[in-house]
Amino acid sequence: MYYKSTRNSAVGVTASQAIAMGISQDGGLFVPDSMPWFSYDDLRELANESYVKRAAVVLGGFLTDFTAQELEDCCATAYTREKFETDSIAPIYMLENNLYLLELWHGPTCAFKDLALQLLPQLLSHAMAKTGAQEKTAAVLVATSGDTGKAALEGFRDSAGSRIIVFYPEQGVSRIQKLQMQTQEGDNVSVCAIRGNFDDAQRGVKAIFADDAVKDTLARRGMFLSSANSINWGRLVPQIAYYVSCYCDLIKNGRIACGEHINVVVPTGNFGNILAAYYAKKCGIPINRLICASNANNVLTEFIKTGIYSRNRPFYTTISPSMDILISSNLERLLFDLSGCDDEKLRGWMTSLAADGRYEVDAPVKERLREHFSAGFCSDDGTRATIKSLYERYNYICDPHTAVALNVYEQYRSLTGDGTKTVVASTASPFKFASDVLEAVKGTPAQGDDFAMVNELAALSMLNAPRQLLQIREKPLRFTENCEVGQMKDFVLQSLA
Ligand SMILES: *Cc1c(COP(=O)(O)O)cnc(C)c1O
Repeated sequence: MYYKSTRNSAVGVTASQAIAMGISQDGGLFVPDSMPWFSYDDLRELANESYVKRAAVVLGGFLTDFTAQELEDCCATAYTREKFETDSIAPIYMLENNLYLLELWHGPTCAFKDLALQLLPQLLSHAMAKTGAQEKTAAVLVATSGDTGKAALEGFRDSAGSRIIVFYPEQGVSRIQKLQMQTQEGDNVSVCAIRGNFDDAQRGVKAIFADDAVKDTLARRGMFLSSANSINWGRLVPQIAYYVSCYCDLIKNGRIACGEHINVVVPTGNFGNILAAYYAKKCGIPINRLICASNANNVLTEFIKTGIYSRNRPFYTTISPSMDILISSNLERLLFDLSGCDDEKLRGWMTSLAADGRYEVDAPVKERLREHFSAGFCSDDGTRATIKSLYERYNYICDPHTAVALNVYEQYRSLTGDGTKTVVASTASPFKFASDVLEAVKGTPAQGDDFAMVNELAALSMLNAPRQLLQIREKPLRFTENCEVGQMKDFVLQSLA
């Protein structure tokens, strides 16, 4: 299997090259030129396997220049009981007979990004060996809206042959998210806040990737740039794996018959997680509707409904900060697929996006979009109301991002009457957003310090507060720098000196 660029179909690189490079020279994203297929028989068989085995099989379908043994070793190292709170790695919580939460937040940093970022460093180090870069150092640049940064830092810390630099929006992350990053341990890590929002951070990182002078300087130091954002293909495949695994668990637990269609709801920002669900569908998982949930930054809702993508709109800071994004990078991969791999069209649309902040896709793409996707959004008030009602009805506490998805699902359900069994991706632990979650449940702003709130939430939910969050309190602040977007390049060059 080879990987093309969404902006140049003539490009053909191996999975290892795609993972090592992160993004194509032409600014496009790498996409596979074919898809593996998992038959119902395969799924029935996988249902009897462990998470590690399932993930290794799914990865094997895409990363065809890795051996099965290499992939199984990578997965066995990433998905351990020590790093994840549960053996099932991504457990399913049943709210009702036809409504399930796929809890993706039992890893070391309490967000779904751990599923990919515990694995990526190992995939990258194999990829470097396979591409002859084993003597070099990968300089991994990350722009984060809060959760990717911490998960990437934790995944790459002290990983041989790599350095990692994370940029986050100074005002755009929760206090606990900020502390998680500022107290990060490890000798190969750097963190810097930027004055701007996530889109500014992402733009800054992309500009550094496109800067030949930076690349030359780093090459002289034996380094090359790579990415741990979901623009990197190595981030997406492990996410496809958890949708496959979820389907297998539903079969195994007798919740569905093998072959029965389900809907999937995903709280969406950069469009990585929902794209993984779309790829899972293309690989044979019987998924009916893919429901894209947004917060007040509802650029994707409008796009899915109208085919017009316009980032010319106000940017809102919400209580679901990891979705405060107006430029969803991975949408480019979907459009490439839906347009029948038309790189010329993609170049046109992406050029208009950069120049005018908008583009409109053509009629066939609009139609295919609507064939697979539904979309909706909700405000912070709606998010809080959903957290509260979930607690009152089911005694279950969810984080604000998951609440956005549940709110949009309810809207979808009452609009369509579609009673298909549905899986909602639950993307973060509520403890990461303790103050907003408490406020939602109690109806009044929460008081006290963050750790008192974490403990209060534990009492309320009758869950144990994640150890790794409580431990932050004892840790020294290591990274308190901040810079303008224009200074990101200098920060990178200095950090990697
Ligand atoms: C990153 C994140 C999202 C958005 O995921 P995308 O893959 O960027 O669409 C949603 N919820 C949480 C908690 C996140 O950390």
